[in-house]
Amino acid sequence: MELETDVLVIGGGMAGLAAACSAADAGASVIVVRKGHGATADSSGAIDIAGYLPGGNTPFQSGREGLRAITGLFPYHPYSVLGQESTETGSQFEKALERVEHSVNMLKKWLSGTPAETIGSLERNISAVTVLGTSKPTSLLQKTMLPPDWDDDSILLFEGFAGNPDFNAVLAAKTFMAERARVGEPPKKIADSELTLSPFGKPYNVSPVEIARHLDHPGGTAFLADSLSKDVERTGATHIALPPILGLKTPAENRRILEDRLDVQVFELLSFPPSVPGLRLLRSLDNTLAGLDVRILEAHEAMNYEQSGNRIVRVQCKTHHRSLDILPDSVILASGKFIGGGITGSENGLSERLFGLPVVSEDWTSTDGIRPQRLTRPISINSRGHALFACGVAVDMHLRPLDGSGNTFAENLFSAGSVLAGYNYPVEKSGLGVALATGVFAGTNAAHALQEE
Ligand SMILES: Cc1cc2nc3c(=O)[nH]c(=O)nc-3n(C[C@H](O)[C@H](O)[C@H](O)COP(=O)(O)OP(=O)(O)OC[C@H]3O[C@@H](n4cnc5c(N)ncnc54)[C@H](O)[C@@H]3O)c2cc1C
Repeated sequence: MELETDVLVIGGGMAGLAAACSAADAGASVIVVRKGHGATADSSGAIDIAGYLPGGNTPFQSGREGLRAITGLFPYHPYSVLGQESTETGSQFEKALERVEHSVNMLKKWLSGTPAETIGSLERNISAVTVLGTSKPTSLLQKTMLPPDWDDDSILLFEGFAGNPDFNAVLAAKTFMAERARVGEPPKKIADSELTLSPFGKPYNVSPVEIARHLDHPGGTAFLADSLSKDVERTGATHIALPPILGLKTPAENRRILEDRLDVQVFELLSFPPSVPGLRLLRSLDNTLAGLDVRILEAHEAMNYEQSGNRIVRVQCKTHHRSLDILPDSVILASGKFIGGGITGSENGLSERLFGLPVVSEDWTSTDGIRPQRLTRPISINSRGHALFACGVAVDMHLRPLDGSGNTFAENLFSAGSVLAGYNYPVEKSGLGVALATGVFAGTNAAHALQEE
């Protein structure tokens, strides 16, 4: 079977979905092939633009400040690439800022009215609270995750669920209390508690996704409010921090029910996988794409390609039950890194799986023949991060991957997201931000390339 399309997007995480949305917005017909679950679904759902410089301990006050520092210090960082078109001195930052700002505005538009409706800006980083009780700087948060205002009289209750191994309310409360005391900011009174919710049967291995699905059912949130009321009464809580369980479909409505019934303010913490907000983000973007007539082919893996001259003319995809050839005018590679599966490692080094593109390390040298372990440091948590996370494909100023000689691999192939080299998202806190901004830029470039033909 064969399908024709203007733009084929390989990968359905943040980068691929943003690329697909922007190409479709620009009038192109788009198909997305998605092998499976990537890092986006596992993420906390908070969209980090720039939190820290690698090795730095002081968070950026805003995404704008981070972009200025990164584009000034790292000329081949994906954010800097977004500004490369500009040749005037100092204006690389301005161009990059304009492009990132545009992508943020597009995302807010695409997510408006969805369960992942997002707020925030490049003007101020938000100090989001995690399930560990620590804080992290981020630029955009889903509305139900924004920490509310509190003062010295506020009492914040960390509420856990018996059997949910991902959140320990006692430890989170302790860590949060210590951090508040260190910075001298409210709230000063913190409590913790744990609920046992009987509908789940025996309270062990209760997944947050399971709780979220329960809250989406009629009566689910009202039941939770009744169960929480004793803890609110006992502790005098004015605010409640919950792990992110407020529903996959109607989180804002569920939060409103809790707040109305308990007369408190409620917010969700940032958490590890399985992440309800990560899933909300992915599903919301999938729905936006459906509204733009974009087809997402689930469980389809791009396995092979055919090149004619300097163009990719055919991509072969497979599922367990069929084989499909897609004939695209432009292709966007947004296949992720190790979790998504775009890049893989063996004793022979790292490789990009579909096109066999060269994979470079953080110093832009080839990773051929380098065992992946050699790209890590002995101490796992390290403020400089691990070189492994900065590995990926090198690109030109239009985000077209380069071959081993530094030439464009194919004139109609673009790439976006964590398959790219040159940034270390775990230490920078820039993961979904880079995926979003490069995705939007790659989608626009792919659509414009069609008009130039
Ligand atoms: C645990 C965790 C928490 C994180 N938390 C945050 C956070 O709080 N904030 C933040 O900003 N960032 C966070 N990140 C980083 C962020 O999630 C990633 O940087 C971002 O999601 C990368 O998006 P992507 O689209 O490039 O890749 P992915 O989301 O990995 O998507 C890649 C897609 O490509 C598909 N694919 C791969 N190969 C093929 C193929 N051959 N054919 C078809 N499909 C293919 C995969 O199935 C997948 O759908 C976190 C990451 C992790 C792992």
